[in-house]
Amino acid sequence: MSHENKQDELNSIADTISACTKCELHKTRTNTVPGHGNSNAKVLFIGEAPGGEEDKQGIPFCGRAGKFLDEMIESIGFTREDVFICNTLKCRPPGNRDPEDKEKEVCKPYLQKQVEVIRPKLIVTLGRHSTATYLPGAGGISKLHGKPVRRPNGQVYLPLYHPAAALHNGGLRQTLLSDFGKIPVILSKIAKDTSNKIQETNEEETKAKQGKLI
Ligand code: URA
Repeated sequence: MSHENKQDELNSIADTISACTKCELHKTRTNTVPGHGNSNAKVLFIGEAPGGEEDKQGIPFCGRAGKFLDEMIESIGFTREDVFICNTLKCRPPGNRDPEDKEKEVCKPYLQKQVEVIRPKLIVTLGRHSTATYLPGAGGISKLHGKPVRRPNGQVYLPLYHPAAALHNGGLRQTLLSDFGKIPVILSKIAKDTSNKIQETNEEETKAKQGKLI
């Protein structure tokens, strides 16, 4: 699919999201926050859910946590326009409460469609909600962060702490920056892989292999 066609597809998904009434969050949202970035992105970031600023602007990670995310993206030589950034939910939970399971379930197909269009080499899950949604049963974020995992369908994931966690706990800032530094290394490993070198694993093997990329 050409870059333009991919962008058209993403715009059409965003239009569908803007009319979505599948869960109660549509009643309290100001704007939907479908995601932002490059339709050809090699790296796709998934946060938790839009906060107050994101709800106002319709853009993911445009508040304080977003500033730190931008800084980390730039620390590895990318800009926001090179990657794609989105959330497990496309609408803000009132008062920034945790996403509910039903909300995540009805919202997930939108992100799945975005992933199908973008076909990123690497999906970075930011924080425990996003990680638990995309790597269910794999363990907690303190164990998983910074360790790439290949799922049975071949997609590689990298779980990281949420950037907002570093705003509350300064000690996590360095951990996040250092985990971020692994992204270029992981991308070049993925690029070097030939399909016959990669043994697709079942769910149990994937869990056992956590931390050992491919
Ligand atoms: N936190 C998130 O998880 N997502 C945003 O878009 C902003 C803050």
